[in-house]
Amino acid sequence: MTKNLLALLFAAFITCNSLAKNTIDPIPVTPISDNVYSIVSPSFGLPTPENKGWNSNSHFVVTETGVLLFDTGSSELIGHRIKHAIESVTALPVRWVVNSHSHADHWFGNGAFPEAEIITSKPALATMKDHGPGALEFYTRVTKGTLGATELVYPTVLLTENQTRSFGGVEVSFIFSNDGHSPGDLLMWLPQQKIVVGGDVLGSDWMPIITGHGKVPSLIQTLKDVAALKPEIVLTGHGQATTVASVTRDVAFLSQIWAQVKADYGKKTTEELVATVQAEMGPKYGAIYKDFGSDIKRYVTLLVQLQS
Ligand SMILES: [Zn+2]
Repeated sequence: MTKNLLALLFAAFITCNSLAKNTIDPIPVTPISDNVYSIVSPSFGLPTPENKGWNSNSHFVVTETGVLLFDTGSSELIGHRIKHAIESVTALPVRWVVNSHSHADHWFGNGAFPEAEIITSKPALATMKDHGPGALEFYTRVTKGTLGATELVYPTVLLTENQTRSFGGVEVSFIFSNDGHSPGDLLMWLPQQKIVVGGDVLGSDWMPIITGHGKVPSLIQTLKDVAALKPEIVLTGHGQATTVASVTRDVAFLSQIWAQVKADYGKKTTEELVATVQAEMGPKYGAIYKDFGSDIKRYVTLLVQLQS
């Protein structure tokens, strides 16, 4: 009896321990400056059972009165892990959350921050409401349930234009991309720290992320505007922190590929256009972007669709 009881207790301990481990496994925090930190996902790409949906970055600013968190990850469970990671740096609570845009991997963790004011743009919220429930089903399916239970918690503070606000003494300028990557994307510029924080508008090792509901000319203009701020550090939605060199590189790449597709649209088939882009741009950009070879066909096809 005692032996059985001990075995049961041991089994319970193992189960609880692994459950606790699952929920609060520490994820590393990367210090960026005195009061700015990044939580960088090692995974880039689609949600899978292995990454449990965690494929995007979050960043946070520790102010005098609380934490400002930029993006909350792809699930409530990931949101809790992010919260736990923040607690390893400061005892101050997360008082404000900014969702950079409507894609699931940037706001599905909102449920872990019930006390926070959650900020996004008006178009981003509308897109979250349109696509959030379908995206949750998709994420749950492709991660084979490892995403965990997630309640969709929508932002309540909506921005409609560029503006500056102080959070616990830290000045933050919100920049609209004018739908560059998706409707209502927001970036944050920290003028004191000379750090720009972008969701998927800013990239590091991969081609700039374009989508069917984004506007490439707006994306190019936003990247030019960001470069003009002369940021010292550029924090991205996916991949490592980078510098303004990545931003100017992306301006050059996007400008050239957009002009090429525009010039040949209606004159060449998509296959011919892909071949032209590969010949004209492959030698340079194939060595720069990790996904150029594997993704350029899909990329050009999408750029063709965006012409109409
Ligand atoms: Zn996105």
